[in-house]
Amino acid sequence: ARQIVLASRPEGAVRPENFRLEEVATPVCPPGGLLLRTLFLSLDPYMRGRMDDRKSYATPVAIGGVMEGESVAEVIGSEHPDHAVGDLVLARTGWRTHAPSDGTGLRKLDPALAPLSTRLGVLGMPGFTAYAGLKVIGRPKPGETVVVAAASGPVGSLVGQLARLAGVRAVGIAGGPDKCRYVIEELGFDAAVDHRDPDMRTRLAEACPDGIDIYFENVGGAVWQTVLPLFNRFARVPVCGLIAQYDGAWHGTPDDLQATMRAVLTRSLTLRGFINYEFDAEHFPSFLDTVAPGVADGSIRYREDVTEGLENAPSAFVGMLTGRNFGKVLVRVAPD
Ligand code: NDP
Repeated sequence: ARQIVLASRPEGAVRPENFRLEEVATPVCPPGGLLLRTLFLSLDPYMRGRMDDRKSYATPVAIGGVMEGESVAEVIGSEHPDHAVGDLVLARTGWRTHAPSDGTGLRKLDPALAPLSTRLGVLGMPGFTAYAGLKVIGRPKPGETVVVAAASGPVGSLVGQLARLAGVRAVGIAGGPDKCRYVIEELGFDAAVDHRDPDMRTRLAEACPDGIDIYFENVGGAVWQTVLPLFNRFARVPVCGLIAQYDGAWHGTPDDLQATMRAVLTRSLTLRGFINYEFDAEHFPSFLDTVAPGVADGSIRYREDVTEGLENAPSAFVGMLTGRNFGKVLVRVAPD
């Protein structure tokens, strides 16, 4: 069996050297439990936070510890009454080919419902994040304008598509012309703006002639400062992610904070941070009921960026943090 551990904590940007691939004995099935084989591993931006030793909403990964992560896995050994060999499950195996489990937190998957990989993306945690953040905090009303960055990724792409279904103008921010074209032509957004365009401020203002009513915040940093002047009164901001700040690369000035607070006051903004699982119990069933049919009939679009082999997970992860990915980042760990 193989696993990837955290070799060292990153200083600034993550590098592949912060990880180490290890060959280990294949774990045995624990008494009363299960042995899992990872098929698809999901790579997600939150994992960057787990690499730092600082207080957050979750405990960091220890040096030498297996990197955490969710995957689609196959049961290859079972002494558990609820799971048989051959079952497919959603599990927090981490970055490894095999994992023992006591059965806690496993979700059984029906491969007939949707391609298994979608349970890590459009029909999984990122899709649910988009759905819950938009519905509960964004509260879209027909005729309004929503802006979302990282618009071609699993969270942003669904935010825009759900906004369109709610009768809202959807404007995406994405890195580069290919992603911007995809956001408009494939996902059906009304407009897209490249955040690397030196005229981004003007382009965004042109794309939002009636201002911004909902800004689904995935990025923070310089993009937030660009969005700020365009807010309408009573705009809502689901604060979902701040990927531009995860590496500590962005340093705002005191003026940036003052501008933020002035806008919050003078335009009666509502900012609310959230972690998707806060909404799980109340909203996960309606999420699946709403989005799964659209995925099945093709009216909701998604894109996956699949890397082959566990050994390539570190470089795929580094690429995602800098926008080299195009779609939901997955690693195919074993053939399905
Ligand atoms: P994506 O697949 O969209 O990958 C991240 C993308 O962020 C990159 O592809 C890149 O896209 C963009 N990006 C990176 N750096 C910058 C930058 N400096 N400025 C602008 N864009 C940048 O990831 P997800 O859809 O999985 O996640 C999107 C966000 O949602 C993240 O911030 C993540 O942490 C957050 N999240 C929060 C959850 C919660 O519960 N609160 C749950 C899941 C995700 P591009 O090339 O377009 O710039």
